[in-house]
Amino acid sequence: MERIYLDHAATSPVHPQVVEVMLPYLTEHFGNPSSIHQFGRRARQAVDEARRTIANSINASDSEIIFTSGGTEADNMAIIGYMHANQDRGKHLITSAVEHHAVLHTCKHLEETGFEVTYLPVDETGKISIEDLEQSVREDTILVSIMYGNNEVGTLQPIKEIGSYLKDKNIVFHTDAVQAYGTVEIDVQDLNVQFLSVSAHKINGPKGIGFLYASKNSKLAPTLFGGEQERKRRAGTENVAAIVGFQEAVKLVQEKMTEKRSEYEVFRKRILDIFGEENIDCIVNGNEIEHLPHVLNISFPGVQTESLLVNLDLAGIAVSSGSACTAGTVQLSHVLSAMFEDKNRISSSIRFSFGYGNTMEQIEKAANETVKVVKRIKEM
Ligand code: PMP
Repeated sequence: MERIYLDHAATSPVHPQVVEVMLPYLTEHFGNPSSIHQFGRRARQAVDEARRTIANSINASDSEIIFTSGGTEADNMAIIGYMHANQDRGKHLITSAVEHHAVLHTCKHLEETGFEVTYLPVDETGKISIEDLEQSVREDTILVSIMYGNNEVGTLQPIKEIGSYLKDKNIVFHTDAVQAYGTVEIDVQDLNVQFLSVSAHKINGPKGIGFLYASKNSKLAPTLFGGEQERKRRAGTENVAAIVGFQEAVKLVQEKMTEKRSEYEVFRKRILDIFGEENIDCIVNGNEIEHLPHVLNISFPGVQTESLLVNLDLAGIAVSSGSACTAGTVQLSHVLSAMFEDKNRISSSIRFSFGYGNTMEQIEKAANETVKVVKRIKEM
């Protein structure tokens, strides 16, 4: 049976070219970038070059890129690091109710240690409003953390508007761009963001590597203590092979971004057309216009998420309940719960997410299998 992977927002396959460029850094170029000798210098050169490629991809400087173990660490580093280093100016931060747990649980941790957090609500498409943000800003607000694009429903937040609103306010702006990076052009100068998190495994790079963009003037308290790597901002020997692989993944997404965007929009439309033709009762969760092209979240009222996932898996189709981090325990999604109250809609949703290797044939097969599964469950 052909297995069709439509869960690229959870993680994506490593691109063969990424594997190829990584291998020499696991074998002959294994040096520690901090070593003075030739082995070390070879590794250092590779890390420097990757840093340059990655910085250029978001219009930042090399010194503003901090390699981390992924998106979670980048989010933690920005939020905890900034709040701790600047708490003399205020202890309040603003985020949204639909952030990834890497942000939400970090905020909860800060609340337990004397900081205050406002969680902005979202409309039924998953979007925050600038008016709500304006009303939540206080004298002691020093940080706003709003994700670029949502991992469960794909909704894009008004990042540029938030950036311009905060510009002259002495409030720093962090955005979790883990899902957006690779499908959306990002220019940190134009957006006026001071911190931005990215993870390699969502863009066909290896797992366990990501970066935090931290603008030059931003003061961060370290969250890891040890060596002087990453300009003393993140201790620990660099994951050289993964960094080199990350660079290759970045080059690949940059070459193909426009093409991929339109391809995923076509996939999305095809799935919805098939459901329409088959008269399947379903409703899209997210924003019709402002969304990540690779994420499609749909509810099938009357059909439980768990049954959908299990039956689709038996048919060889890998989709998700939304957030991989809460999958398995099938809890009601905090993202959908923030968007609307209809429990039936929340507990019958699944997420299709597209990526490298998917073909139109696979998309049609997945949609047709979904139709069969939904009809079968409803008949039961
Ligand atoms: N933020 C978002 C929006 C994500 O989708 C994810 C991954 N599910 C993360 C953060 C965490 O990234 P990582 O898996 O690299 O720690």
